[in-house]
Amino acid sequence: MRAIVGTPIVHRPDLDIPPPRPPQATNISPPPLPPEPPTLIEMAANFSGAMARWAAAGFPTVDAAELEQRLNTCRACENWGMVLGFGRCKVCGCFGLKLWLKTERCRHPKGSRWPQNEFVKSPSKE
Ligand code: SF4
Repeated sequence: MRAIVGTPIVHRPDLDIPPPRPPQATNISPPPLPPEPPTLIEMAANFSGAMARWAAAGFPTVDAAELEQRLNTCRACENWGMVLGFGRCKVCGCFGLKLWLKTERCRHPKGSRWPQNEFVKSPSKE
């Protein structure tokens, strides 16, 4: 048998790989789930309520600037999704018609994200 000749093996504790740490408990909660879309009956009720408010106010519509502001807000919202090629709010179920109606408000669970106007003054959590 031959003896191994060469550099002696030296233990370098500074190069040791530390043992894996056990998982730590965190206080970070997962993000909230998006709301369930309304049922057809709820959507019909929302629609008829919106039409009644709109008619009672004299059928006012938003101008192009407010429409664009509303649309951009919705497109950036976590509750906006595409259904059959159309944008749809998952909170109220609207496919975008109410973007035109000056009497309507955003129903985001944390309060309206749309700009206020003379018909919709305060944020709502309806
Ligand atoms: S919650 Fe408000 S901002 Fe979000 S998609 Fe619905 S209407 Fe638009």
